[in-house]
Parts: sequence; structure tokens; C-alpha cells
Amino acid sequence: MKTKAYAAMSAGASLVPYTFNRREVGEHDVALKVSYAGICHSDIHQVAEEWGPAIFPMVPGHEIAGIVTSTGSKVTKFKVGDAVGVGVFIDSCRECNSCKAGLQQYCLKGMIGTYNGMEADGKTVAMGGYSDVFVINEDYALKIPANLDLQGVAPLLCAGITLYSPIKHWKVSPGMNVAIMGLGGLGHMGVKFASAMGAHVTVLSHSPNKKTDAMAMGANDFVATNDSENLKPYEKKFDLILNTISAEIVIDDYLKLLKLDGTLVVIGLPGRPYKVNVGTLLDGRRGIAGSMIGGIPEIQEMLDFCGKKNILSDVEVIKADYINEAYKRTIASDVKYRFVIDASTF
Ligand code: NAP
Ligand code: ZN
Ligand code: ZN
Repeated sequence: MKTKAYAAMSAGASLVPYTFNRREVGEHDVALKVSYAGICHSDIHQVAEEWGPAIFPMVPGHEIAGIVTSTGSKVTKFKVGDAVGVGVFIDSCRECNSCKAGLQQYCLKGMIGTYNGMEADGKTVAMGGYSDVFVINEDYALKIPANLDLQGVAPLLCAGITLYSPIKHWKVSPGMNVAIMGLGGLGHMGVKFASAMGAHVTVLSHSPNKKTDAMAMGANDFVATNDSENLKPYEKKFDLILNTISAEIVIDDYLKLLKLDGTLVVIGLPGRPYKVNVGTLLDGRRGIAGSMIGGIPEIQEMLDFCGKKNILSDVEVIKADYINEAYKRTIASDVKYRFVIDASTF
């Protein structure tokens, strides 16, 4: 299927218009007309090869919302006209313990990423969502509740699930003190979900001008971290800290903010190792953990939860020819709070 897209032709290059052919719709596939594709900071890291050698030309994009245009003969979950979402992976081994548990993101053989890797056939380079058409096996596509606007839904497929999953895993609930580090695409979804679960939510941000927005999203408190003195009163205060910062930081300054038995969950992936002062972990039995997106059942649960509570990402919709500028603004923390590309402009 002829597909119009935007691609980086080499590491660190600007994205340019690019045309390629996707596979025809197989028995178990659905084809979709992409409506909106979100820009995740992971796209930026991978185009810049900050996570190691990558495959070019690269069509990034793993926050995809669209409408089903055709279905294979054996498809049961979708029909033409349904709203459909695609996230960070398009398949996995389906047989390992992680896959059987619905935790495909932790597939023991490695999930099959939406781009920057090979498709399930092992020979076709996977091309992501900055494109007007997408084809995916129905088992890895998500149903989007009919009441939700697709612009604000697209970022839920990565930013949304990536915060929803640890918020569920660490059982965020009323009475808990939760901090979100970084108010970007992921962070702003963390504020919305943690607040929806009834927690007391504090945003730790190095952009003081985001305070009003943070409070409007449901935060109860805001700390401007550009002056590290501001963190002192918050030492030993939080049960859970979710770190969504895309850049390298001094993690010890934040570990100190954990209460006895508190956990700091690392979600942001700048690409280089952190230095952890183990003394800070020992003092208060503090923990540091990681979390990666979420599995298919949990993504569906999150979308249904958003449908019920009317939770969406706050987006700035752009045309495809603005992608390079949007990358620059995202790196400069100047995103409110997710850039979403209108796929009719590819
Ligand atoms: P984003 O929209 O760019 O947000 C990142 C935020 O981090 C910025 O808005 C900023 O918030 C803060 N920040 C940036 N530079 C900083 C600095 N030098 N010092 C302190 N704070 C800084 O990025 P995103 O799309 O949310 O992604 C965040 C990270 O998560 C990326 O590394 C991405 O690759 C990773 N990620 C991980 C997963 C996973 O499964 N674990 C999934 C998706 C993405 P303030 O302005 O509020 O300080
Ligand atoms: Zn992402
Ligand atoms: Zn598996």
C-alpha cells in the first residue's frame, strides 16, 4: 500500500517527505487511515541515535490514532470505520511467560517495535506512524472509545500508558504522596492519572512557567527545581516519584525526597547511566525501579478508563512540515504538552 510519510534519512538528519509501500492487508490485519501521530521524545532520541545504532531511513512515530479502512478475512475485533490505536510495539513472540501474561512489552524475545527494527516477518523494516496509512495485526491494535477526540487520544498510546502502568503497579490511591518529575508529554499524563486515582500530586519541574498548567491538570503542589534549594522542604515526603525527565540529572537530589520504603521509578531514558549514591538508598530502605510502557490488555484498560473519565492529552496539532521545529521545541522543554501531527498533511 502506497504510504506517504516523513523520515530521517540518516542519524541526526532533519525529517523529510518520504514515500514507501506497506504490506497489503493480511488475513489477521487491519489497515487504517492515520488521523494523528504524536511526537514522543523517544522518537527524538532514536533519530539522534542516542540509544545506539538505529535503522535509516527511519519513519518514527508510535502514538497513532486513526480509522479502520479495511480488514482481513479473519479479523474479528474491528470493522471498517472503527477508531483504532497503535502504540510502541506491533507484535511479540506471543509464547513466552511475559506475552502469555499480557505483558508484551517485556517479551523475553524482545517486543517488535513500531519502528527502528524488523517486523514480525524478520525481514521488513518496520516504519512508524508519521505516515498516512498503517497496517497492523489486529491483536496488537487497540479500540478507542467513541466519545474521545482522536487528537488527544494519539499520545495516550505511549505517553498515557507509560504513566498509567506504573501508577497501577505501585497502587497509587488516596492518601499517597506522589511526585512527577518533568512536565512534558509523559509527565502531564502522570499528573492527570495520579490525580484521577486520588493521590496528592506534586510536580517537580525546571520550568517555573508551567505551574498554572500543572495545577489545572490536577496537581496539588508545584516545585521549581531550577533552584535546588526548593527541594529541601520536600525531603522524605513522597511515597512514589515518577521520573519522566528526558535529560541527564543528578538522581540523588530526588532519591532524598522519598519517604521510608518509597520508590523512585525511572521512566525517562536519556541514554547514559545514572550515578546512584547507594547510601541514599540504604537510608530509608528506598528503592529505585524502572517501568516500560504497558501491555495490550493494560493499554485497552487505560483507553477505557480515559473514555469513562474523559481524560485526554493536551496537544498542539501541527502540520508535517513543522516536525523539525517541533523536535527543537520539545528538546527545549517548550511543548504544551504533546505535539501531534495531522496525518492529512504528510
Ligand atoms: P518531553 O515531552 O520532552 O518531556 C520531558 C520533560 O523533562 C521536559 O518537558 C522537562 O520538563 C523535563 N526536562 C527536559 N530537560 C531537562 C533538564 N535538562 N533538566 C530537568 N528537566 C528536564 O519528553 P517525553 O516524551 O515525555 O519523554 C520523556 C522521557 O521518557 C524520554 O527520555 C523518553 O524517551 C522516555 N520514554 C520512556 C518510556 C518508557 O516506556 N519508559 C516511554 C516513552 C518515553 P519540565 O519543563 O517540567 O522540567
Ligand atoms: Zn513513546
Ligand atoms: Zn514473548
